[in-house]
Amino acid sequence: MRIVNDFYLIVDVEATCSDDGAVPRYEMEIIEIGAVLQSSRTFEVESEFQTFVRPVRHPELTPFCTELTGIAQHDLASAPGFEAAVAAMKLWMGSADTVFCSWGDYDRNQFHQDCEFHNAAYPFPSGHLNLKAEVCRSLGLSRKLGISDALRHLGLEFEGALHRGLDDARNIARIVRRVMPPLI
Ligand code: AMP
Ligand code: MG
Repeated sequence: MRIVNDFYLIVDVEATCSDDGAVPRYEMEIIEIGAVLQSSRTFEVESEFQTFVRPVRHPELTPFCTELTGIAQHDLASAPGFEAAVAAMKLWMGSADTVFCSWGDYDRNQFHQDCEFHNAAYPFPSGHLNLKAEVCRSLGLSRKLGISDALRHLGLEFEGALHRGLDDARNIARIVRRVMPPLI
């Protein structure tokens, strides 16, 4: 796909979860938003955003969730709620001309779910670009790869902590830089 916007707005969220059904999919809530603004012309990451978000439906993180993400209960103690976190993200986004992207559709769906639960406005002005589908198609791969496997396919290694919002977003940007055609 040819991107006509000035920036890729690459967003990766972490959410409450469990490995025993205690947190069903439809009750998961965002606990971290990580995002980068990446130029669609130069592929430079121009700005970054991170916030924790305090969940309300399952306010106590499961040991599984902390193990997976490295996010601890005390990280959320003074975190903003969903609406305040989204307001901070919107302030950071400003009026930049962006296309909202994530690795797969999960992050977009999670935003829709949380907005619906909080009766809050959906924060992204554009449609959504599924970079996992886009990148795997560009690479001629029939199987969809996770972020780490896509990096490895390109001869790169994941940098930072996997399953952390901002590190995930930064690594997706590294893939985009290598794979997506520049906007001239
Ligand atoms: P990710 O961006 O891959 O770190 O995943 C986003 C969120 O999806 C995580 O914060 C978890 O809530 C959920 N998730 C990811 N992987 C798993 C897994 N193996 N089991 C349960 N939930 C998961
Ligand atoms: Mg993530």
